[in-house]
Amino acid sequence: MLPALLLFALAVVPPHETSRSSFDVLHYDARVEPDLSGKTVAGRVFIDFVSTRDSLEAVEFDIGALTIETVGEAGQALAFSSAERRLQVRLNRPAARGERRRLEIVYRGAPRFGLEFVPGKSQVYTIFSTSQWMPCVDAPADKATLRLGLVLPAGLVVVASGRPIEDVALEGGRVLHEWRLDEPMPTYTFGFAAGKFTEVTGRQGRTRLKYLSTDASAEELRRVFADTKDMLAFFEERSGVRYGAGEYTQALVEKTIGQELAGFSLMSEEYGRGVLADPNTVGLLAHELAHQWWGNRVTCLDWTHFWLNEGFATFMAAAYREKRFGREAYLRDVEGWRARYERVRAAGKDRSLVFPDWNRPTADDRALVYQKGALVLHELRERIGDAAFWKGIRAYTRAHLQGSVVTDDFERAMATSTRQDLSAFFDQWIHAGRKPGP
Ligand SMILES: [Zn+2]
Repeated sequence: MLPALLLFALAVVPPHETSRSSFDVLHYDARVEPDLSGKTVAGRVFIDFVSTRDSLEAVEFDIGALTIETVGEAGQALAFSSAERRLQVRLNRPAARGERRRLEIVYRGAPRFGLEFVPGKSQVYTIFSTSQWMPCVDAPADKATLRLGLVLPAGLVVVASGRPIEDVALEGGRVLHEWRLDEPMPTYTFGFAAGKFTEVTGRQGRTRLKYLSTDASAEELRRVFADTKDMLAFFEERSGVRYGAGEYTQALVEKTIGQELAGFSLMSEEYGRGVLADPNTVGLLAHELAHQWWGNRVTCLDWTHFWLNEGFATFMAAAYREKRFGREAYLRDVEGWRARYERVRAAGKDRSLVFPDWNRPTADDRALVYQKGALVLHELRERIGDAAFWKGIRAYTRAHLQGSVVTDDFERAMATSTRQDLSAFFDQWIHAGRKPGP
């Protein structure tokens, strides 16, 4: 899921610009030091990129409200300017097509969002909007690997994108936690959470599992995440693709709406209490875990195809609920989507699931992406039958793993795999907004 704030932040910045498609970021190597009591952040990031055009003279990054102190390359200072959440850097020497270069950016800031500080609980964690705590390219198609060093007070448990490398004691009672993400992923999946967490570990097949919380006891954590192993096995089977990261962590933090990151998910303590009270409410856990395949690894090329992330995760959560609680539970979810979608339709606000832009999405637009998106997958499943549907889903997921997708990629994968012409279905449900009903 994506919070409204991120959607707003994205709204300010169109996803595709010529200056951005002229280079491709390969790797970020960051060292980030949040100050929990001061609610500020200081950092340094090396950005490795390759030029995708001849004679590239300048590059541009998203920087949220960060203040840039210096930009350099190979020990030489570079000229830069920043405006409207963007950093523009002039290269000292143009980059040739295919040439790999490395910039170093030193920065600091007091982010209003993107980083959540809870000093009373010694917690700090990210809430999407990576460019609010580390200069980067926000566009989801520019996937990159990451090495993230977090400098924090001693005594905190940390989870970050990828896998842990080492912890190094520093002067002043601080610890450097080094993490590394080896599979290229969109920067919105970069993040971390640190706190005085209780930690429970487990295993499902080859995957190490971790559950974290400040409020819940170890016994409560085991109950909140009792279905995780089953969910992981279910999504591996339905996607036809093994969970790749080796480690998956679920952390309950002070306040968030639920977010997927590379190799971990964050939910709120309040949500965890809800699952303890009613195990039927595991849908959000399943939604966020489903994103480890649909979203993080098979990623919408840009936000106009956002339904390929969110419609999928919403549908897959219901598919898990069907497996766990039976057909009735699944159908209740379907009817919920249909009711929400019908309200949008009756108001004359239905539109194509491929948006012309995602600059000012309304609540109805988000309902289309999440609920209509999930409903379309259900309708397609009803239309072609279970066996063909899941065969197609596996073909689509395998074909586009680690890639970026548009809606036509999905249609093509389903049509090829099922050997059916699905164009009438896609025209009706995806490309056209349907007329308000009688
Ligand atoms: Zn989601």
